[in-house]
Amino acid sequence: MKYVLITGGVVSGLGKGVTASSIGVVLQACGLRVTSIKIDPYLNTDAGTMSPFEHGEVFVLDDGGEVDLDLGNYERFLDVTLTKDNNVTTGKIYQSVLDKERKGDYLGKTVQVVPHITDAIKDRIEAVALIPVDGKEGPADVCVIELGGTVGMNCAKKDAGRVKNSPFFILLSCFSFCGGEKCFILFYLYGGVSSGDIESMPFIEALRQLSFSVGKDNFCLIHVSLIPVLGVVGEQKTKPTQHSVRELRALGLTPHLLACRSAQPLLDNTKMKLSQFCHVEAANILNIHDVPNIWHIPLLLRNQNAHHSILKQLNLLSIATPPDLE
Ligand code: ADP
Repeated sequence: MKYVLITGGVVSGLGKGVTASSIGVVLQACGLRVTSIKIDPYLNTDAGTMSPFEHGEVFVLDDGGEVDLDLGNYERFLDVTLTKDNNVTTGKIYQSVLDKERKGDYLGKTVQVVPHITDAIKDRIEAVALIPVDGKEGPADVCVIELGGTVGMNCAKKDAGRVKNSPFFILLSCFSFCGGEKCFILFYLYGGVSSGDIESMPFIEALRQLSFSVGKDNFCLIHVSLIPVLGVVGEQKTKPTQHSVRELRALGLTPHLLACRSAQPLLDNTKMKLSQFCHVEAANILNIHDVPNIWHIPLLLRNQNAHHSILKQLNLLSIATPPDLE
């Protein structure tokens, strides 16, 4: 199984879902069978009880699964029928680990985020990727995984220990803050962490391990990031993306492609800067500028030869055919 992981940096609502779906379309147009997984790092087991005002529509799948609206995008773009298992949430993962713990399956071991939660995430991703979703027999060729939330913007220090302890650190920090000035220092030292970062940590660690275990020919990471333009200067700014890629790399994940959201197409010197400072080949820097209709995005990607970069990374160039999206 080949995996394409889509992460997002800088701000939420960048279009990761639409990008993931469009990449799936381009790969399908190369003759590959594609499935998808959406990871939502919240504790709800599914989106069924979440307010649509806060979260957007709840998408109901054929098997009755009440899931994130991005799965609706995948079904519409890829013409597949997903199952509720294709939406992985922190809630589902914890529930399965806690059920196993109560049954005694861990044989007296201390159950921890690393390795038990991270192992459960990896096992689930590998199992769900094998479920056929296009009406044909056998597993798909490529699984596109979208990691919800943003990665690597506000975090200061990252290590496996922090993955284990982060919720406790925050609790301790808040508690200490109430306790007085001395303890405030602890909060300050640890500062700069947003809730989104903490929630996605076990997934990032699990995906890092997955990328290592499946090997470099089977894993392609596409980081979706924002290129803002400052009104007065009128210049496309690459710094937020540089920082976000740096943080991602500090977590052990190196992007192979960058998908840059911007109001206008990227200028050549913006691409060169991104390539130089983010350590990504210029040919692998894709531009997803604002379009009047999201159905244009697969064509936008095809016109930039996104399929070539992804297939090359996944060592699939020899078996895939050029995309036909007309
Ligand atoms: P995320 O998954 O990052 O939260 P979504 O894929 O749900 O983001 O997209 C957020 C919104 O932005 C959606 O309404 C989508 O239609 C819109 N959108 C995404 N990409 C583009 C684009 N290139 N041009 C215009 N609108 C876009």
